[in-house]
Amino acid sequence: MRSIPYLWDGSSSGLPSAWKRQLDSARRVLAASDFDGTLSEIAARPETARAVPGAQAALAALGRRLGWEVAIVSGRALSDLRARCPVPGAWYIGSHGNQLAAPPGRRFKLPAPARFSAAARAELRKMARRWPGVVVEAKPVSVALHFRQAPQLESEILRAGRALARRYGYHPLLGKCMLELIVPGARNKGETIALLARQLAADAVIYFGDDRTDETVFALRTVPLLGVYVAPGKPEKTTTAFPETIASKSTKRERRPWPTRAHYWLAGPAEVVQTLQSLALKDSKNHRQAGSRPVKRKS
Ligand SMILES: [Mg+2]
Repeated sequence: MRSIPYLWDGSSSGLPSAWKRQLDSARRVLAASDFDGTLSEIAARPETARAVPGAQAALAALGRRLGWEVAIVSGRALSDLRARCPVPGAWYIGSHGNQLAAPPGRRFKLPAPARFSAAARAELRKMARRWPGVVVEAKPVSVALHFRQAPQLESEILRAGRALARRYGYHPLLGKCMLELIVPGARNKGETIALLARQLAADAVIYFGDDRTDETVFALRTVPLLGVYVAPGKPEKTTTAFPETIASKSTKRERRPWPTRAHYWLAGPAEVVQTLQSLALKDSKNHRQAGSRPVKRKS
């Protein structure tokens, strides 16, 4: 299988020249990024995750670039995401694409999805009481069980969670030390990015993400998209549909990087921030003056 290229290889501006031209000539660009693992390092507990230094300032600067819009995307609830990563002028997409908040003075309302049943949520909370270290995160269309602090409970949590998902007709989604149960008919990140891009009349989209759920964005073909996978090593390219909903695999057996539909990869949040900074500077002259030219990586 073919590998996808590292984003900064052979580039003097932090971006491949064809993409730099495409973004520079676009009338409107949507630059969107996942949060956990992409703008923040993965935290042991979800409530302690913070954007890495410079991330918020780089996104705000990019949003001020003429014709550019920025969006922050996450599986987190919208209120959590906005409080955790405030960026003036940004769009926010929470709950894996099922919640959206427009910046002040802008309007775009997503049709309301079905809500998670209160009875199922209560059942999950009751179950989690017997699992020390497991954090229950309730969101409008889903409930997530985080077990980073209790990885030894994984198979028990997956078994019980999948059984409950079957009873309620919910979709189980397996993340990094996390099982999330989602109502049917819920949107994914890709569908909501496509809706927002259409609403904004964006003729190019650049998207950064490190999760399985970000593959729904990388797979978009309705708008010119530059997909950047934040991965711990050189990922392979796949063209087949990605199984976003995984009910049976264990996170212990899941190896990253997985084959991806993204076009390029970067190694971590600090490199994402450097790329955002370079995009916020319009031309290579300013770029050099700012001294933020990314260093070519030795592979
Ligand atoms: Mg992530």
